Amino acid sequence: MFKKILIANRGEIALRIQRACRELGIKAVMVYSEADRDAKYVRLADEAVCIGPAPSGQSYLSMPAIISAAEVTDAEAIHPGYGFLSENADFAERVEKSGFTFIGPTPESIRLMGDKVSAKQAMIRAGVPCVPGSDGALPDDPVAIKRIAKSVGYPVIIKAAGGGGGRGMRVVHTEAALLHAVQTTKAEAGAAFGNPEVYMEKFLQNPRHIEIQVLADTHRNAVYLGERDCSMQRRHQKVIEEAPAPGIPRRLIEKIGERCAAACKKIGYRGAGTFEFLFENGEFYFIEMNTRVQVEHPVTELITGIDIVRTQIAVAAGEKLPFTQRQIQLRGHAIECRVNAEDPYKFTPSPGRITTWHAPGGPGVRVDSHVYTNYFVPPNYDSMIGKIIVHGDTREQALARMRTALAETVIEGIKTNVPLHRELMVDASFVAGGTNIHYLEEWLSQRER
Ligand code: ADP
Repeated sequence: MFKKILIANRGEIALRIQRACRELGIKAVMVYSEADRDAKYVRLADEAVCIGPAPSGQSYLSMPAIISAAEVTDAEAIHPGYGFLSENADFAERVEKSGFTFIGPTPESIRLMGDKVSAKQAMIRAGVPCVPGSDGALPDDPVAIKRIAKSVGYPVIIKAAGGGGGRGMRVVHTEAALLHAVQTTKAEAGAAFGNPEVYMEKFLQNPRHIEIQVLADTHRNAVYLGERDCSMQRRHQKVIEEAPAPGIPRRLIEKIGERCAAACKKIGYRGAGTFEFLFENGEFYFIEMNTRVQVEHPVTELITGIDIVRTQIAVAAGEKLPFTQRQIQLRGHAIECRVNAEDPYKFTPSPGRITTWHAPGGPGVRVDSHVYTNYFVPPNYDSMIGKIIVHGDTREQALARMRTALAETVIEGIKTNVPLHRELMVDASFVAGGTNIHYLEEWLSQRER
């Protein structure tokens, strides 16, 4: 096992990884930007290294700064968390070339999955069902593009091969709008992702977002840890996640889960990963794979009892997965609410000093957050300041626990979306379960009226 790990991230996930290190008896080196200098989790680290000024381009995204921090502190491995450099294949490669272990998949796996065109082709080969669409990237020939759209059937969605974070996508309803949409998406993709390649998919009208968590080791073992339902989204950003997904028969989940685990073995995947699917009319359609730990990993931890971050570290150290598929049992139901520093109605960011932070507690309540009373939320990063996660024997109990937890939560000094969560936890459709990916935005548009 490693003696010292460098955590190349910030905020709640940096603290989450630090906690896993503590539990494993591993020293944690924290890197921080000038904006995070005073954060308690930085003070609590065994060692901390300033890697630059507040803008992430000069700190959390600076590969040389992070690698030299690992060198001066004699860390053996680097955990990238999520976001920032976590899905950057060049970073993973530089980490390994510099003699450190990258806590994540190989650079080749990251590269394969980072390009959505190559990812989809690999999944088709591995027997994972995908959204019907173009066979690879779209050609330049306008006649050929129109022919592909006709055979896929309108509406279609044009997506950038290098896209991410819900950017680089355009829905097309008619042939008249097709070529212009392809050109604009290409131009935007070239500018934003440095790769103008786009592909086409059938646009599914009312899907749910269901994802499968996997874990794989370097000894050809791979398992799936059930699913998560992340359909409650605003602007393609997840707001609430839960596990299991309400109303989906277990045999369907098992079938797709087994495919995902088999695909991991086929591509030589290692570490934690997530296969994201759209689910409509009883069918799963792969959209992308995330090659890192995800924000919503705790709901899976609560229903499986498996520590995903700890397992990531163990398999990176070369250990075998400590459980087989048969030993993974799901128990109860878990729900996560992402707490964002933002206006609960207008969604404008609300950074600043937190004057009161009173976190909820009690049976089945977990709060993953790095903030506290008097913490200053810097304006430079993502607005998520923590997660409230609950576990119950049933979905009803989990909902009741979440309502209680949200009622106990007091955050003053900044605005947060806690009031939004309180409303959603008593919304009849959400309570019934199984809402689709458009539900939250439709609900919000009616609420504003
Ligand atoms: P990103 O990497 O930017 O998150 P994804 O491919 O995961 O991109 O898609 C993000 C979201 O866009 C999905 O969760 C879904 O809401 C929507 N989307 C993507 N592809 C389709 C599709 N074929 N049909 C309908 N919606 C889609």
